[in-house]
Amino acid sequence: MTVPTLQLNDGHSIPQLGYGTFKVPAEETERAVSEALEIGYRHIDTAAIYGNEGGVGAAIAASGIPRDELYVTTKLWNDRHDGDEPDRAIEESLTKLGLDHVDLYLVHWPTPAKDNYVHAWEKLVGIRERGLSRSAGVSNFLAPHLERIIAETGQAPAVDQIELHPRYHQAETTAVAARRGVLIEAWGPLGQGKYDLASLAPIADAAAAHDRSVQQVTLRWHIQRGRIVFPKSVHRQRLQENFDIFDFSLTDAEMAAIDALDEGDAGRVATHPNDLN
Ligand code: NAD
Repeated sequence: MTVPTLQLNDGHSIPQLGYGTFKVPAEETERAVSEALEIGYRHIDTAAIYGNEGGVGAAIAASGIPRDELYVTTKLWNDRHDGDEPDRAIEESLTKLGLDHVDLYLVHWPTPAKDNYVHAWEKLVGIRERGLSRSAGVSNFLAPHLERIIAETGQAPAVDQIELHPRYHQAETTAVAARRGVLIEAWGPLGQGKYDLASLAPIADAAAAHDRSVQQVTLRWHIQRGRIVFPKSVHRQRLQENFDIFDFSLTDAEMAAIDALDEGDAGRVATHPNDLN
């Protein structure tokens, strides 16, 4: 099965489906990532704060897969925005990953109360220019944060990685991102398992119609809306299931019915970006 790629605003391309490693315990990461690579995943999303970059690196090294066939993302943690800390942080991440560059490096959260995300973003542009990351992006940036970094640096991030799932669509941020050519990476694409997808009729109905799981239907909805996703599981059977979403399509009516599940801010299941500093 071939995973489609999307073109970023810097000319690089990114596989639309990957494997997310948030809360994958360090001691389980090499096994889980190795299984994902065996299944066919070539895009891995990690972060310094996840504490599992070493396991990701070990799985990559053991796989023998050529570097240019892999897409690796990691993220700058919130306490390292200031001064030259981002330069040190990327070196540490690369050492743990066993790589000389990542494909995508993200400012993990804007931490707006500290008012240092413009500086952090400028540092990531510099890291990209030095070749330590192919692309630079942000995560958890709301519309005003996106507008501000673009206005103050003239550089649009390649992606904004934000919480987005059937009950929470982030209309304002996704509209700004679309206008600015910033692709959306949907984190928590399955709602982090915090609500029952099967209880949502448009998802359950589409799952029955296509003989698929509600998770497959939800991931397919993201794919057809042009988002990048990297669902997390440590179970091989679920990793396989989440990968098998390119041999069926949702109809326009099914897509519209899932679109109508948006509850706005009430649908958020995790931290508000303005509250994490
Ligand atoms: P998710 O929506 O991918 O949900 C993961 C949970 O869904 C799993 O724990 C599992 O219980 C369940 N699940 C997965 N596949 C399933 C299946 N086929 N059947 C039944 N249950 C299934 O949530 P997530 O892990 O938070 O998000 C995905 C990735 O996004 C993360 O691993 C991480 O890489 C990234 N992320 C980024 C941020 C950020 O701040 N940038 C925050 C959270 C997550």
